[in-house]
Amino acid sequence: MEMELVASSLLSRRIQRMEESATIKMAQQARDLAAKGFEVIDLSLGEPDFDTPAHIKEAAKKALDEGFTKYTPVPGLVELRKAIQTKFKRDNNLDFDINQIVVSNGAKQSIANVILSLIDEDDEVVILSPYWVSYAELVKLADGIPVLVHADIEQDYKVSAEQVEAAITDRTKILLFSSPCNPTGSVYAEDELKAIADVIAKHEQITIISDEIYEYINFVGKHISIGAFENVKDRTVTVNGFSKGFSMTGWRLGYIGAPKWIADACNKMQGQITSGATAFGQKAAAYALLSDMTPSWEMRDAFLKRRDLVLELVSKVPGFKVNKPEGAFYVFPDISSFFGKSDGNFTVNNADDFAEYILHNAHVAIVTGSAFGADNCVRFSYATSEEKLRKAIERIGAACAKLK
Ligand code: PMP
Ligand code: GLU
Repeated sequence: MEMELVASSLLSRRIQRMEESATIKMAQQARDLAAKGFEVIDLSLGEPDFDTPAHIKEAAKKALDEGFTKYTPVPGLVELRKAIQTKFKRDNNLDFDINQIVVSNGAKQSIANVILSLIDEDDEVVILSPYWVSYAELVKLADGIPVLVHADIEQDYKVSAEQVEAAITDRTKILLFSSPCNPTGSVYAEDELKAIADVIAKHEQITIISDEIYEYINFVGKHISIGAFENVKDRTVTVNGFSKGFSMTGWRLGYIGAPKWIADACNKMQGQITSGATAFGQKAAAYALLSDMTPSWEMRDAFLKRRDLVLELVSKVPGFKVNKPEGAFYVFPDISSFFGKSDGNFTVNNADDFAEYILHNAHVAIVTGSAFGADNCVRFSYATSEEKLRKAIERIGAACAKLK
């Protein structure tokens, strides 16, 4: 024990400052409980339950047989970057040269590359909150300061351009957000994005990082990329990946389209940390982007059906306040009405307690909103079967009914 204490003090301040990923932590707690023999329903991790579409897997097998087993150029195979270039034009009205595109081992690495390339000590990153867990921690890793600008459920969890403007200082270097949003499922409308772009356009030191990884899981129509607005197009990094829209989480493939000077920096960063992503995976990813998208649309339709089911079931549980998410595969209820209540053994004082109570009393894993900047909320991922969703919410309802 003493040795362990001494050893941990040898860790860098950087890693000691950083929180463990709450999503990954909760998924592990769920696995641990399941290993003890409990039947746990895991709604914690944001991971599609569908298998990768067969034609994409076939393309990877073919690439393996053809010998795509070697190192690749650090920013990605030219074939994949060309496919991404076509995709950006086709889906997003974005024009990138292939040397403005960098492929990484997941969108998480793409975002890390950009933050580490732009942020110095005490630089500020305005993050629209609720936000995805890793954003603030990556900013801290770069010695920067996360500045959280919050919208609650009454605002449909969408931050206004006025709020963004009020948060900007002369140290602000990045504006960072996702739409469709993890954890809320909110989708910023075209006029809302335009208003934010108009604010950023006035501050030439600010780069926008627009995380569009849930682009294909949008229930309200055409996806809009903020980088397509003329006044910010030269200052926007558009992040995307294969994990969600193609159900390829384990393939670890993400990418950016960025101003060339940022793409060059990310290329340099990645060249020292991981090099290029897996060769045969990149071949399959290029194929995925340019082939039939029907499987992605079928997954989106299934998510929409589940969203409606979850909303219907959750709205019957007294004490839950929900809005209607327009994309991704999360619902983000406000559960603050349970704070201060107890089942006789355990008192729920905050969202962390609520998630813990639900894990141990309903055997359902959800993630506390505090990890996403929202202390009154919890996140349910509905990327699982309708049967499991029904069972999970029934159990949650029963556990909540014991809180008095
Ligand atoms: N951004 C958001 C908003 C996410 O939810 C995730 C979840 N994985 C990522 C980025 C990272 O995705 P990837 O699997 O491509 O690293
Ligand atoms: N993005 C997913 C989530 O929010 C996967 C877990 C992670 O990478 O943090 O649950």
